[in-house]
Amino acid sequence: MNEMALASRLFWVLIGPFAGLYVATFAAAWPRWPRPLVGQSRCDRCHAPLRAIDQIPLLSYALKGGRRACCDGRIPRTFPLGEGGGLAVGLIAALWPQPLLAGLTALLGFCFLYLGLVDLRRYRLPIPALSAAAALSLGLSALTRWSDLPGDLLGAAAVMAMMLVLRRLGPGRGAGAGMGAGDVALAGIVALLTGWRLAPLAIALAALAPLLVMAVTRRRGPIAFGFWLSLTGCIALIPLGF
Ligand SMILES: [Zn+2]
Repeated sequence: MNEMALASRLFWVLIGPFAGLYVATFAAAWPRWPRPLVGQSRCDRCHAPLRAIDQIPLLSYALKGGRRACCDGRIPRTFPLGEGGGLAVGLIAALWPQPLLAGLTALLGFCFLYLGLVDLRRYRLPIPALSAAAALSLGLSALTRWSDLPGDLLGAAAVMAMMLVLRRLGPGRGAGAGMGAGDVALAGIVALLTGWRLAPLAIALAALAPLLVMAVTRRRGPIAFGFWLSLTGCIALIPLGF
């Protein structure tokens, strides 16, 4: 491995958790912009200054059982999830020896992280992030599997058509219930990344996973299908790097 590749890999692993936390800050504030944009050093609930350890959500979440040290308020799960997800995205990007492909993979991973976190909180998939994810997955597929691209595009279109049919048939149209137009688009993006052979299996697993979680935890409520699709998209990025 040359020095350039090693530097690129180290960069993504180190930057991952910080970028993930930044992504989480934007996801938690959606549809507004977070304020301040950088340097959250005070508790947003009681405004007490944060200790160094509280600025690492994964650590303080684990130590205090999801509570804040200052005022015992609940830490939104968006923040530890964002930090852990960012670390995972950094590790996936670090699989690439080529800095350009590592960068595209990281950007797409952070798009998925943002989409998943917003969907988990609001049951919405913001269109700018969906558009960015679509462009990045098209670019990544073209650069890594050019000869498969026509078949994979057809596969993605077929998955989206199937999802549209399911959406028509499914109960509960609209916000917070069932499948939205954003879910259809996101399924197409994930199908493009997995390739047409694996797309049906990947989408089926993304649909079954939340039902399984509900059965195990015995908790009911609306399903953030976009979160599970985003997670599937991140997993689909792993084999591309090998
Ligand atoms: Zn506080």
